[in-house]
Amino acid sequence: CGIVGVTGNPNAVEILLNGLEQLEYRGYDSAGIYVNDQKGDDYLVKEKGRIADLRAEVSADVHGSTGIGHTRWATHGVPSKENAHPHVSNDKRFYLVHNGVIGNFTELKETYLQDVTLVSETDTEVIVQLVAKFAREGLSTKEAFKKVLGLVDESSSYAFLLLDREDPDTLYVAKNKSPLLIGVGDGFNVVCSDALAMLKETHDFIELVDGEIVILKPTSITIEDPAGQVVDRKPFHVDTDP
Ligand code: GLU
Repeated sequence: CGIVGVTGNPNAVEILLNGLEQLEYRGYDSAGIYVNDQKGDDYLVKEKGRIADLRAEVSADVHGSTGIGHTRWATHGVPSKENAHPHVSNDKRFYLVHNGVIGNFTELKETYLQDVTLVSETDTEVIVQLVAKFAREGLSTKEAFKKVLGLVDESSSYAFLLLDREDPDTLYVAKNKSPLLIGVGDGFNVVCSDALAMLKETHDFIELVDGEIVILKPTSITIEDPAGQVVDRKPFHVDTDP
């Protein structure tokens, strides 16, 4: 029900957990984070229940500079650790958090994923397994992500953050009918459902438009419209203090 992401900040774990705490007001039944330290170590921690329960599961060795986090309000599949986000492709290459509902996930599963064993009951997992499938078939991560977005039907709503373990300082971002903002940091960048989640990190945010895709790196933010043209959009400033 709320999502957060960060790239280029060694304090990623705390930024994500704090961000999720700020989003608690939106309501949730489970939560999780994935972080990657860019040196080959990565961690996926998920828990049913409160952010405090997730925090308790995050041991001292969990660290990273890029990561994604999620509070879930279950729509497909019971609240459980397996159904909590982030979801991961079976080849352990792609990690995804999602807010919203994929209207045609059953059709997508039946059409494209007959040979893939899904580990959760969620609509979301279909998306990350599809990205992995198209990447295996030779598409770049961006092209695979765009292809999947094109297959999702119009009734669907989503805010997505996707991370590719083979290029772990980059976040792939897209939204349709779900809120999502980019937060501009000094040497790092963040993403969040609500600016409130990241006011400790930045006061400068960029609004996203449905259908755009964003390639987010520690020192660059590239927004592309559906035709692939780069969009130039200035941040707005939020004066509120955390
Ligand atoms: N539909 C997804 C699920 O049930 C995401 C729900 C949400 O927005 O938290 O896992």
